[in-house]
Amino acid sequence: MKKLEDYVVSIKDFPEEGIIFRDVTSVLQDRDGLKLAIDSIMEELKDIDFDIVLGPESRGFIFGVPVAYNMNKAFVPARKKGKLPRETVEMEYDLEYGTAIVELHKDAIKPGEKVVIIDDLIATGGTIEAIVKLVEQLGGEVVRIAFLMELEGLEGRKKLEGYDVVSIIKYE
Ligand code: 5GP
Repeated sequence: MKKLEDYVVSIKDFPEEGIIFRDVTSVLQDRDGLKLAIDSIMEELKDIDFDIVLGPESRGFIFGVPVAYNMNKAFVPARKKGKLPRETVEMEYDLEYGTAIVELHKDAIKPGEKVVIIDDLIATGGTIEAIVKLVEQLGGEVVRIAFLMELEGLEGRKKLEGYDVVSIIKYE
């Protein structure tokens, strides 16, 4: 039986020299890989109680919605600035070069709601750190953060200290 990591294709020097890009489209384009990915994430969440799956644009949508649907939860997207049509809250965070802004709809999370964040990969952790702050600003509680892949060398977990962080595949 193939393991989840067997479906991930690693591409050298993408998007720039020196980076090894861990591609998830190779997981998605195989029906066994897709099923294994979604089932593996759900397995990581079966022991907790929660209301909402939050997925960051854009690969967080791919994994977040099927998990939310299968576990009978709501789905909330986090998007880049300017994409959400209703009233939003926003947070700026650092990129390798410059900054970016992430937004949530203001009415997407009610005070006291329990939120699970799902994304394909944690690198520096900057994106998720900003999203966690927004969830808390709206009164939500982040009860777990689940990634398909973790680039351990970038120490993204340090930015999420105190939170329950799980990842299925770990790369150095
Ligand atoms: P961070 O904020 O943790 O530095 O960046 C994480 C974001 O960058 C994730 O949303 C992820 O989709 C994207 N990302 C960075 N490196 C990779 C990679 O090697 N493979 C994939 N699939 N996404 C990556």
